[in-house]
Amino acid sequence: MFGAQEYNLSICLMKWPRNQSNQDELFMRLMPCCNICSFPYTETGIHTPRIIITCGHTICEQCANNLLNVKLESVLVCPFCQKPTVVDGPAGILPKNFALLEQIY
Ligand SMILES: [Zn+2]
Ligand SMILES: [Zn+2]
Repeated sequence: MFGAQEYNLSICLMKWPRNQSNQDELFMRLMPCCNICSFPYTETGIHTPRIIITCGHTICEQCANNLLNVKLESVLVCPFCQKPTVVDGPAGILPKNFALLEQIY
């Protein structure tokens, strides 16, 4: 998993279908996971990796939304380095971490 540490990722071992047509054939694969909720990142949906633009840390969209809800609205405080980032809307407007997704797919 080249470069995983650059993104402050945790890596977990997941069962993963070897190909889309045969879901029964699973193999164990190392996947980059959200440090907060430990779900593996996905290309779309609630576990899309989102970059916290002020500091460059990555968390999943669901965790980013949770942080936005409990903090002052429109301010997301990074769970890793405590830097505040003004987010003008839901976490979905934060940039996707495409570099991370390229490691998965
Ligand atoms: Zn998460
Ligand atoms: Zn941070």
